[in-house]
Amino acid sequence: MVAMFLTVLGCSGSIGGPTSPASGYLVEVEGLAPVVVDMGPGVLGALQRHAVPEEATVLLSHLHADHCLDVPSLMVLRRYGPRSSTCARVPLVGPSGSAYRIGVASAEEPGTVDDLSDTFEVSTWDVTPEVELRQGDDDDGAVALTVRSARVNHPPESYGLRFTSADGRVLVYSGDTAYCESLVELSAGADVLLCEASWTHDEAHPPGIHMSGREAGLVASRAGVGRLVLTHIPPWTDREAVRAEAAAEFGGEILVAEPDLRVDI
Ligand SMILES: [Zn+2]
Ligand SMILES: [Zn+2]
Repeated sequence: MVAMFLTVLGCSGSIGGPTSPASGYLVEVEGLAPVVVDMGPGVLGALQRHAVPEEATVLLSHLHADHCLDVPSLMVLRRYGPRSSTCARVPLVGPSGSAYRIGVASAEEPGTVDDLSDTFEVSTWDVTPEVELRQGDDDDGAVALTVRSARVNHPPESYGLRFTSADGRVLVYSGDTAYCESLVELSAGADVLLCEASWTHDEAHPPGIHMSGREAGLVASRAGVGRLVLTHIPPWTDREAVRAEAAAEFGGEILVAEPDLRVDI
């Protein structure tokens, strides 16, 4: 069996917190280049503890600042760091407009856009909803990981991601989303659901943004997942209250994400 691992790089919801960077996760499959899913502020630092950042494929769920603003720093490392002379371009997949939005964030002058194409091969989920990641550097390598995206319910164009290894192990990441049927469908039968739970349940929360612990538990339960990992809990939200809400809806194992947590999928 080929192992697949999830490592939490950062899990603090909406902003970096006192004990965690903002959102970022590492997915590792034997024989495949490391895959970084979201790169909020502080994630590049954490990534250096676990992988060679220049080798990483980058997948972005959406372009809120807390999920992508360490990508310009990764570009600095790829262009000017000790491995810059041997850095091959790596895939970056995100919402439509990813090259432009990150290019603006990385630009040196107002009104200009940094051209990412020297360092990233950018594609977008709206055009390519499913991506196959292969072993080795060419297109002939065996497919080690398939990533399927689905639109979820969050103000900007946002995606949940379903990772399936060559031998059928499944990890689903919710990205940021309110409770929605597309996430339940995407998560069906997953071994592990990495799911946002940004607040405790309160009908007064604005619709179409985030989930409560109760809603994350409900997604896990309805989708019939094996284990639930709660993430994207902001520094001002009570983690234990979120976990208790999820546990009232989902009877399986529940973990609360923290930096360096490593989960064998
Ligand atoms: Zn977020
Ligand atoms: Zn967001």
